[in-house]
Amino acid sequence: MIAPAKPELVTVNIDGKEIAVPKGTNVIEAARLAGVDVPHYCYHPKLTIAGNCRMCLIEMGLPAVDPATKAPVMDPATSKQKINWIPRPQIGCATNASAGLHVRTQTPLVKDCREGVMEFLLINHPLDCPICDQAGECKLQEQSTGYGRGYSRFIEQKNVKPKRTLLGPRVMLDDERCILCSRCVRFSTEIAKDDVLGFIDRGSYSTLTCYPGKKLENNYSLNTVDICPVGALTSTDFRFKMRVWFLKQTDSLDPESSVGANTVVWSREGAIYRITPRRNDEVNDTWMADSGRVLYKQVAAADRLTAVKVNGTDSALDIAINAAGELFKSSAGAVAIVGSGRSSVEEQFLTRKLATALSAPAYLVSRVGQGDKILVSADRNPNVRGALVTGLVAALPSAQLSELAAAIDAGKVKTVISVGEDLAAAGLTAAQLAKIAIIFLGTHASATSAAARVVLPTLTVFEKSGTLVNQQFRLQKFLKAVPAAQGASDDLTVLAKLVAAAGGAALPAEINALWKVLAAEVPALGTMTFTNLPETGLLLDATPWAMLPFVEGETLHYKPWSPSAPPEAGKPAAKPAAAS
Ligand code: SF4
Repeated sequence: MIAPAKPELVTVNIDGKEIAVPKGTNVIEAARLAGVDVPHYCYHPKLTIAGNCRMCLIEMGLPAVDPATKAPVMDPATSKQKINWIPRPQIGCATNASAGLHVRTQTPLVKDCREGVMEFLLINHPLDCPICDQAGECKLQEQSTGYGRGYSRFIEQKNVKPKRTLLGPRVMLDDERCILCSRCVRFSTEIAKDDVLGFIDRGSYSTLTCYPGKKLENNYSLNTVDICPVGALTSTDFRFKMRVWFLKQTDSLDPESSVGANTVVWSREGAIYRITPRRNDEVNDTWMADSGRVLYKQVAAADRLTAVKVNGTDSALDIAINAAGELFKSSAGAVAIVGSGRSSVEEQFLTRKLATALSAPAYLVSRVGQGDKILVSADRNPNVRGALVTGLVAALPSAQLSELAAAIDAGKVKTVISVGEDLAAAGLTAAQLAKIAIIFLGTHASATSAAARVVLPTLTVFEKSGTLVNQQFRLQKFLKAVPAAQGASDDLTVLAKLVAAAGGAALPAEINALWKVLAAEVPALGTMTFTNLPETGLLLDATPWAMLPFVEGETLHYKPWSPSAPPEAGKPAAKPAAAS
């Protein structure tokens, strides 16, 4: 385990409260660390500063010093150093914390400023909260309760702007709700590297639009919906399907590549409605790819496996496990296992135990695509490193199972256990599949499940809990969001039963109990428990694997801002606290 670097601290005073914050912390974030909320719209901790909404106006001052002697100037009334307050309000977003900085956020002047900004923002706003999809998570709605006037002094005709404009396949724009904060514009340019959005016209007529001939269709477009502080941008997949306050939030991970972006799964009554990014400054900042957001549709996909089968006939789990046990006996010494870089660490550990009990070789299939140098790596397996850490395999996987194919052709392998992998897609021919008995554990139908002697339906990442090791060798946790599909069993239960059927020692299938065995046997995990694993993950010591010839996707493309690193040129200082 590797300890993170400690940032240099400076002391600032927020509303009379002294607090030490990392040097360079933005004043809005410094206030947040002091438990003080400074309302804002255009400011976002992971984007450049625009300073255009003016909602974060505050009073600011510095300790007075004698210009000639540099000695502190004392206030005789308080016997403390006098503070030179700047005589007009300042925007908090554009100021970084420096030693001795004083900030006032609750004065009559600050309140006046906030109320003025709110009145201007609401002049042309359609005030359609009851039918707006953003209701419940709209910053304009929230701040209007604190700083809104409650009635409008604007008696003129409101501006009419375009409504229901499709900016791209996944993002809908309602221009009348847009407060021109430019978060979406900055995100597209700075993070997605797709300069597609901009404003046209001036003043009250300013309107967000795509540049002529362009669409907001990059694989990160839905992040603009996440960061839009109002209901101007909505997701075509999620809009009008469910009110957010009805939804349960579960911490999860994006399993589409080895980046391991942190996510939140939003569900109600066993159905998932959307997936959004969860902030982890060490992995994905506050972003995720659009492609990872639709993966929840796998849960109820038409090709989902929901029936245990033995020789093509519906069966019960224990009968199928017995059938697998018979195959282990009849092909003793000729069993091979194809594990998966998609399995969790816990599943890979049990797969290793199964391989040991059967004295069977274990293979892993690589899955490589085009890396986008942001949050989708070329390595499309989320947990190849987990297989290395748990000792399931000792080397990186290859795309084709040529060694296994040769062993089948030579008659050395008669039974293959596939943990979720389609053996046909990994290079085994129909003739080779016909020569072996297949025991298939998995979630969706494939040529392998169709050819399998024993089919054991298991769970998607949304229906179980576990851990994955990402491209940084960061061990991260995902939690069960929805109940298991009917007919499918927990992978840990199935694997533990198979280990027992293979003559191995009894192993717990409950994740916390399994972790006691796992941590004791896997040196890299030390004394960690599943429950204690930090929300942002645990960086493992990757020294034993540092020299492996990683594919292109193994390189850490996306470099999150680090509180310990100096701010990049043109960017505000990083912030370590909660998401905006
Ligand atoms: Fe800001 Fe939303 Fe308007 Fe974009 S659409 S400028 S994020 S209010």
